[in-house]
Amino acid sequence: MATGIKFGPRFDTIAVHGAYSAEVALRDAGGSVIEPIFASTSQSFASSDEMEEALAYRKPAWAYSRIHNPTIGYLEATVAALEAYQADVEASALCTSSGMSAIKQAIEPLLVLPHAGHCINFVSSAQVYGGTFQLFSERMSERGAVPRWVCEPWDITQWEEFIDEDTRFLYVEVPSNPQQSFVCIDSLAKLAHSHSIPLIVDSTVATPALCRPLEWGADIVVQSLTKTMGSSGAALGGAVIAKHDLTSRHLTDEQKENYAMWLKLLPFRDSGPCMSPMSAFSFLCDIRTLRSKMELFSNNTVQVVDFLDNHPKVAKTHYLGLYSHPLHRLAGKYMMLADTCKSMYGHLCCFEVEGGIQPTRDFFDKLQMIMRATDLGRVKSIATIPAISTHQQQGEAGRCLAGVSPNMVRLCVGGENYLDIIADLEQALG
Ligand SMILES: *Cc1c(COP(=O)(O)O)cnc(C)c1O
Repeated sequence: MATGIKFGPRFDTIAVHGAYSAEVALRDAGGSVIEPIFASTSQSFASSDEMEEALAYRKPAWAYSRIHNPTIGYLEATVAALEAYQADVEASALCTSSGMSAIKQAIEPLLVLPHAGHCINFVSSAQVYGGTFQLFSERMSERGAVPRWVCEPWDITQWEEFIDEDTRFLYVEVPSNPQQSFVCIDSLAKLAHSHSIPLIVDSTVATPALCRPLEWGADIVVQSLTKTMGSSGAALGGAVIAKHDLTSRHLTDEQKENYAMWLKLLPFRDSGPCMSPMSAFSFLCDIRTLRSKMELFSNNTVQVVDFLDNHPKVAKTHYLGLYSHPLHRLAGKYMMLADTCKSMYGHLCCFEVEGGIQPTRDFFDKLQMIMRATDLGRVKSIATIPAISTHQQQGEAGRCLAGVSPNMVRLCVGGENYLDIIADLEQALG
């Protein structure tokens, strides 16, 4: 529940310092002002006793970088603190090699079949990232865990209709990439909890600077750190942030108590999708200024969307920040710049070029500064056509289900001066 006031360091202070205090710097790193990169694969021990204690998880240690590493530990503490900021919950984070591996780590233990041949299910918004759509519809289905797609996720009754005793969790992306759908997070969390199952939220596009689903009752948040959290674009990574004592009638008490830590010590250790310490360092550096970057990107996007929405060659503009967007008020309740009362809608917008597919491709090919790439959250503006990139492999039917039209352009606005972004769009539309 959103309680508002909680004392302790503010958002920016956590983002800048995380768990790496002046005291920790002196104790562990010769006073280094920024977090050191522990490039070592493993930790050496003083004695056989110490080694045995460490490997039995009885003594704090990091042992081997597939399990843990101090640089990754600094990042995990920072990400967990930012996601749990101002929420009445304790949370821990597990960092992984990519956003997709974070999603896979988060859901797999929830999808254990009661016995071979028995089919189980989970209910997910159809408006999810293309990789997630494929993971759910191909990889999970082939092992007997079938996704049930909700096409209008803002309508809670559509979720309700799909839940039965074989449902393991609810999964939603807010805002979704690229359609920008949104849900009433607290109502969905309540629905999940009334069936004793968890709500998992991918909030990559919002980042904790704009929205923190744990505060609204979600059990698990997944992040592709690759994207906005790592806005400079130098590393791939993901995170599972789970609240302690989460809701699930399918997990044991031991698993639920600190799910992220349990994942880390057991299934993640055994499957090995670990982050590199260099990547963790890169994310730490990017996250320090996350909130001010989200403010800049959001303000730039408002200007760019205003230009697009009034351009005769643009058939339709989709941005949660537009008053005309049907989910504008709903999103504004949940997307607020941390430590302010200002609703902000982030850096992701979509638009359709008048005339269909060919004019869309002509426009796209004429962009000069804005890069053509399947990427988002960069400090550089990036455009893509989801139907031929991120959402290509799910096919026409899958795109239809997810609401991705063939002439939709996704634009992720960066930190350039917005007048230069608009100038590039203008010449390409001309
Ligand atoms: C990119 C993305 C992912 C996957 O992250 P990777 O780091 O590329 O594996 C998951 N969810 C969303 C919303 C994304 O944009």
